[in-house]
Amino acid sequence: MRLDKLLCKSTELTKPEAIQCIHAGDVLVNGMLAVNEAMQVHENNVVLLNGVKLVPRAFRYLLLHKPANTVCSNIDEAYPSVFHCLDIDKVSELHIAGRLDADTTGLVLITDDGRWSFHITSPKNACRKVYRVGLSRAMSNDAAADISEKFAKGIQLQGEDKLTLPADLEILTPKEVLLTITEGRFHQVKRMFAAVGNRVVSLHREQIGDVYLDVEVGQWRYLTEPEIASLG
Ligand code: URA
Repeated sequence: MRLDKLLCKSTELTKPEAIQCIHAGDVLVNGMLAVNEAMQVHENNVVLLNGVKLVPRAFRYLLLHKPANTVCSNIDEAYPSVFHCLDIDKVSELHIAGRLDADTTGLVLITDDGRWSFHITSPKNACRKVYRVGLSRAMSNDAAADISEKFAKGIQLQGEDKLTLPADLEILTPKEVLLTITEGRFHQVKRMFAAVGNRVVSLHREQIGDVYLDVEVGQWRYLTEPEIASLG
C-alpha cells in the first residue's frame, strides 16, 4: 500500500498530517529516509515514524442492509450516503465492493481492502450476486422460459459491445424473480429487463457469493473469517 495510507492505518493521523510527517523527514522505510508519500510499502518493510515502528491496523470487512434512497458513495449526493449507517471510526477509509443504485435495497459489502473488493467485483472471478426483482409486466410461462433462455445465453445491452455473461433466472411469481449475475455493469439488472421489454419496479440484493443478508434495514455487522475467506 502507499506510504501515506500505511501511516493513516497505523496511527490516528489524517492523510494531510501523514504527508506532512513524510515531507518533514519523520519517516524511515527500511532505514532510509522516505520523502515520497506515494511510495509503495510492503508487509515485510520496516517503517518507523519518529523512531517508532508502525504496525497497520487489520483490514475491516462488513455487511450492511442498504435502505432505499441512500447512495453508495462516501459523500452525500441527491440522497444521503449509506455510510451514515455505520457508527464506527475512520469511515472515510472504507469503500463498497459493488455499488447499488439509490433506489436499490439490500446487501452491500464494505471494506478498506482494495484487493478483496476487486476480487468480488471483477467478472473474471464469477462471484454470484443474487437480486430479487419486481417487474411491472406479468410474464406468462412461455415468456418467462424465453427470457430465461436469453439471459442464460447472454444478451446485448444498449451501447455495449459484449454480451452479458450467462445469468440465471428463477421465476417466483409472474411479476417477481430471482436473478443471479456474476458481473456488475452500470444499472445491469434494470437494463437486462428493459432489453426484453419489461421494467424493474423494485430491486433488492439478497446474496453475494455465499454471504446472505441477515440484518435489518440500516443495520450492519462485521463479516466472519470464513465469510471473508470465501469471497477473497
Ligand atoms: N443492477 C441495477 O440495475 N441496479 C443495481 O442497483 C444493481 C444491479
